[in-house]
Amino acid sequence: MQRVLLHLQRLYGKGELMALSAMMQQYLEIKDKHKDEILLFRVGDFYEMFFEDAVTVSKELELTLTGKDCGLEERAPMCGVPYHAVETYIARLVKKGFRVAICEQLTDPALSKGLVERDIIRIVTAGTATQQNMLEEKNPNYLLSVCLNRKKAGLSFCDVSTGEFYVYGIDNADIALEDELSRIGPKEVISATSDTLNLFCERLQIAFTQRQESCYEYKACRQRLIRQFGSDSGISDLPHETVQAAGALIDYLEDTQKSALVHVNKMSVFQNKRYMLIDRTASTNLELTHTLRDSGRKGSLLGVIDKTCTAMGGRLMKSWIEEPLKDKDEINFRLDAVERFANDPVLLTEIRKAFEPVYDIERLLSRIALGNVNPRDCLALSATLRQVPRMYALLSGEEGLIGETAKELDPIEDIESALSQAISEDAPVLIKEGGIFKNGFNAQLDRYREASLNGKTWVAQLEQKEREETGIKNLKIGYNRLFGYYIEVTRSFYELVPLRFTRKQTLANCERFITDELKQLENTILGAQDNAVKLEYEMFLAIREELKNNIERIRNTAQALKTLDALQALALAAAENDYVRPLLNEEGRYEIKEGRHPVVEQAIGREKFVPNDTLLTNDDRIMIITGPNMAGKSTYMRQVALITILAQMGSFVPAKYADISITDRIFTRIGANDDLYGGRSTFMVEMDEMSVILKYATEKSLVILDEVGRGTSTFDGLSIAWAAVEHLARDKCRARTLFATHYHELSVLEGQLDGVVNYRVTAKEHGDEVIFLRKVVPGGEDKSYGIAVAKLAGLPKSVVSRARQIMARLEVDDIQRGSLGKSILNNKQNSGDRQLSLDSFKPMELVEEIQSLDVMSMSPIEALNTLFTLCEKARRL
Ligand code: ADP
Repeated sequence: MQRVLLHLQRLYGKGELMALSAMMQQYLEIKDKHKDEILLFRVGDFYEMFFEDAVTVSKELELTLTGKDCGLEERAPMCGVPYHAVETYIARLVKKGFRVAICEQLTDPALSKGLVERDIIRIVTAGTATQQNMLEEKNPNYLLSVCLNRKKAGLSFCDVSTGEFYVYGIDNADIALEDELSRIGPKEVISATSDTLNLFCERLQIAFTQRQESCYEYKACRQRLIRQFGSDSGISDLPHETVQAAGALIDYLEDTQKSALVHVNKMSVFQNKRYMLIDRTASTNLELTHTLRDSGRKGSLLGVIDKTCTAMGGRLMKSWIEEPLKDKDEINFRLDAVERFANDPVLLTEIRKAFEPVYDIERLLSRIALGNVNPRDCLALSATLRQVPRMYALLSGEEGLIGETAKELDPIEDIESALSQAISEDAPVLIKEGGIFKNGFNAQLDRYREASLNGKTWVAQLEQKEREETGIKNLKIGYNRLFGYYIEVTRSFYELVPLRFTRKQTLANCERFITDELKQLENTILGAQDNAVKLEYEMFLAIREELKNNIERIRNTAQALKTLDALQALALAAAENDYVRPLLNEEGRYEIKEGRHPVVEQAIGREKFVPNDTLLTNDDRIMIITGPNMAGKSTYMRQVALITILAQMGSFVPAKYADISITDRIFTRIGANDDLYGGRSTFMVEMDEMSVILKYATEKSLVILDEVGRGTSTFDGLSIAWAAVEHLARDKCRARTLFATHYHELSVLEGQLDGVVNYRVTAKEHGDEVIFLRKVVPGGEDKSYGIAVAKLAGLPKSVVSRARQIMARLEVDDIQRGSLGKSILNNKQNSGDRQLSLDSFKPMELVEEIQSLDVMSMSPIEALNTLFTLCEKARRL
């Protein structure tokens, strides 16, 4: 606002600014403290914005830009929104990346003599939203705070809407931080250090808020944590940077919420080592929670297995997918529960029925804590709590995770019965307009209501009486907020108006009057109505307080409900899709019989999907998979990864039998993801991803490689792919690897390099057509069917037949795939006599070949490859 002030000063001179209206001075003072926010300034029934804010917002939200007299010559640019619709406008602004400060009237304008007191009551940002319309039902709304200390980083994240609060630290922040950001998926990141963080956030489309260094000051942070969580919450065991991150997070929450965060009362250490690591690349490529195509849930793994009944269960399911477990017992504990539900369809149906009226009471927690629960929320809470005894009766006798969780279900009967006795079924959202409580709940309220209800009859009776007394047939008694009750007489009856009528208002065709009797009646009715509304408001505040006192019990019940919901959902997915319970081992063995891809099988129909086996062991660690384009290589490899993730999250898996080795991390290098945003070429992205894999894959990792080395020339690509396989096979790494490749040359590695086995996805030729059989069988493939597939894809006939001619020629000339591989194995490539089986070429043949080239139809890569081959041939002449 400094800018606005300066601007105004320049325009009018300092002296004239004194002329600013008192309200505008108040506005500028508040705005001065909130330069980075759009300030919504409450004026009566509107929230108004002025100056630059007004100009910006009117453009962004297509509101009319008007002006307001502000004491100066020129009117202040202004736009406004009605108070009852403000949440929608706030949500739209925050979605567009703005921060919004809400300034309320703190005193009643009707009662205050001078200027109404005003102050900021809340700042809404992407990561601190609690309003329903700003939250995605099935996604958490995390705010993450980062404190960097050389290579270490302290992290703390929180969902204000539910009260979850986590802390943890990572050691190699320089390489792992971006993955952590994508794993947590916050809506907003805060930190005192921007540089790289800012860049990551931009790439991941997360709002970034720079905080002052002082917010991260250790001592103050520690104090804040003690105040929030108590001195026995394990703060002393945390490294400094973690305490700083968490303390700064609390500081930011206090700054924005301006209210005590009683529901944020437990700090948990996020056990990132407890979970399999799925970095951003892998999670995106495997389409775990959203698809690559349109970012939708449908078509992702989550879309297939999320059969939860509640939004809170849905959020838990999403986190289970993103964080599969690594402890065998813990996984089996979950699997037991899923199996129990899956084996008892009657129980499963009962449970799902019991879940029908259950609401997302986890998200109510923040509204309870911040004191903005509305009557409808109360109805949702009591409907949910009413289900709890039924759920408890069904499940508390169970063993294991189900029984344990069910015992945590607290029906909170006192609250439930209070709410169901008090709150009327058709209670409104607003709390200042009455109609919240049931008749018969409070005697005083009933009396007020009766008075205001009877008032209507009294008015009707008075209307009738006056008609008769005056002889004015169409005399009417009406009401408006400005004038209260009035008697309306139309022009033609003016002579009949008696003297005791006092004129109040004259309209075009009628006049409005008041009488002493009507005035008295008005006082009784309006008094009763006002009193009723006031009493209801006070009674509702008491309910809010009561809920606040029970927040912990409500949280426990919410937690238990969502766990049971996620478990039943996995059971239903297993039963509906014919999944089996996986076995787990820690010996590096992945043995899958008749495995299927959970998403593709649904897309094309179960009967059309061809199941495949997988066997990876300590001896057979690397599968080199060849086969024509479109054969199903990629689907096959993804299916192994998805089955592994499902197994470790405690779900059944799409297979006849599966024994999965507990995996520490899944790596992927799939397809050509141009990183247009980051400005890296396909090849750079590919090599970046490869280098992460080669550096960090361990014996317990699962690596999926689809077409490595494609983004460069054939020989470069082949050499890189070759060297990568050698590295992965070596003792230092020994990662279980599925490697789909066009480089048939790699198949010579089987038998030569320990751990490598060849597989191919079958296809057969029928005439000059190709039929995909989609069976993965041992052995290398020596046919690529590229031309047949090109034909299938609709390449012009002339090009297809010319390609066949060239292909035949090349085959005759003995440029066979195997020979190149063998020559590398024999180390001939460095020995000066690079044979490559090309020496049978004669000069004329080379000329002929050059003549036959259709350079215009080649891609740059093809052209480069062809030129490379021709040079090799020429050198050998
Ligand atoms: P590639 O990676 O070999 O080019 P994809 O894995 O992309 O081939 O598979 C191409 C298409 O083939 C998929 O979109 C899918 O519809 C179908 N497909 C793949 N695997 C199977 C399978 N096992 N059974 C049936 N259809 C499959």
